[in-house]
Amino acid sequence: MYISPSFHKQVLVALNYKQFTILASVFVLSLPLFSQRKLYYFSGSDWCVSCIKFKKEVIESNKFRGFIKRSEIDFEILDFPQRKKGLTKSYINHCDSLASLYNKEGSFPKLVSVDSGEAFTHNLKKAIPFLLAEIDSIFSPLINKIQSSKKIMGSRFKFTIKNRADSSIIFQEGWSLIEKIEKEISSWDSLSLTSKINRNAGLSPLKVPIEFFKLVEYCKNTSEITQGAFDITVKPAVKIWDWKKSTVPSEESVDSVLSIVGSKYIQLNESDTTVFLKKKGVELDFGAVGKGYAADKVIQMWENEFNLNYGVVDAGGDIVAIENEDKLHVIIPNPENPNGVKYEIGVSANAVVTSGDYFRSFQIENKKYSHIINPKTCKPVESSVSSVTVIAPNGLMGDALATAITVLGEVVGIGLINQLPDVEAIINKTDGSEFFSEGIITTYE
Ligand code: AMP
Ligand code: MG
Repeated sequence: MYISPSFHKQVLVALNYKQFTILASVFVLSLPLFSQRKLYYFSGSDWCVSCIKFKKEVIESNKFRGFIKRSEIDFEILDFPQRKKGLTKSYINHCDSLASLYNKEGSFPKLVSVDSGEAFTHNLKKAIPFLLAEIDSIFSPLINKIQSSKKIMGSRFKFTIKNRADSSIIFQEGWSLIEKIEKEISSWDSLSLTSKINRNAGLSPLKVPIEFFKLVEYCKNTSEITQGAFDITVKPAVKIWDWKKSTVPSEESVDSVLSIVGSKYIQLNESDTTVFLKKKGVELDFGAVGKGYAADKVIQMWENEFNLNYGVVDAGGDIVAIENEDKLHVIIPNPENPNGVKYEIGVSANAVVTSGDYFRSFQIENKKYSHIINPKTCKPVESSVSSVTVIAPNGLMGDALATAITVLGEVVGIGLINQLPDVEAIINKTDGSEFFSEGIITTYE
């Protein structure tokens, strides 16, 4: 996994996931009938040591090969200086004519993307994910990706898929699924299953669909592994800290909710998939994981029902994508300026989720109140963590851990992530310092 601080402006634009997808949607409308997507590798392989190294480490890597195969880019190796026996005259002429167009200076190795006659020379010092992202960004507008976006679950969601005849159905099924999930899990909707469970607290267990049961079970387990930092029973505390009104509750009202917050009150019975809140007043709230969970479900549905091999759900900044090695190029917003870019990441994971104060918090007399509650105190988190980005195999896990780490802080949070397989995290603190889990390699240009 490689991350890079916002380095070179031009490259940044090329890699900026959000920008290139917007570009893609614009291009769909004016897609030329024929598009030439060529990637040429000029190799002085008879004598050039760096060419041999590059070929071995990049060109022949599974990542590069897989990318070329999936992206439908026409990739060609052009061998120089052609002392090799057995090369036909027409092949030599072919290489020479391409070199006269795209490699007049005769530099080797050289990788050039040619998009309808326009050439772009790639920087071969980049780590593979960045190189692939750069190539992808050159051709993306022509690869015919389309997007659909909607305000849903209190956030702007965006879908990106490769265009096909039934694209609108694929989008519609995705939106319907999210609506269905929202109706089921929202604790703010009095008709939802979550609200029914909440009303039944201290009274009786409620039978729920297996998927819902698994969600509650996952959340309860995550509460355990995060030492209670993540807790879906935090709802009573969320209610008294009303972010919309920016009011600070009295100590008495904070005290009154302390005894009804805790995952120990969730009783699960796997044999009949029932959920029971053991104490009256206990309430569930999936606010911390709803978006990641919904994004996962859409991705799964697209894979299973439409056989998609490319698809990205951007759930208000929480990104989940179909398993695809070269895929996610994610921008982490700058905590000081939500429109600015702090990092871009090339990851081979399925989900990148960010939890940060700059999305929701309020301030009274210079004191900032986070939208994330420490379940132990039932008060907004006071740590100096300003944003947490988690890279995980799925959105649910990423979303839960991002919230948990905001509560745990950088030392315990990074320690936890380092113990978990296939998960990485980046923590930004208000003083500008950054913390990375072990699997993240930073690359500075
Ligand atoms: P996120 O933006 O993903 O971190 O989710 C924040 C939302 O999750 C809040 O608006 C609350 O509804 C809920 N929440 C706040 N603190 C916690 C917590 N410690 N554990 C679980 N959910 C929480
Ligand atoms: Mg979360």
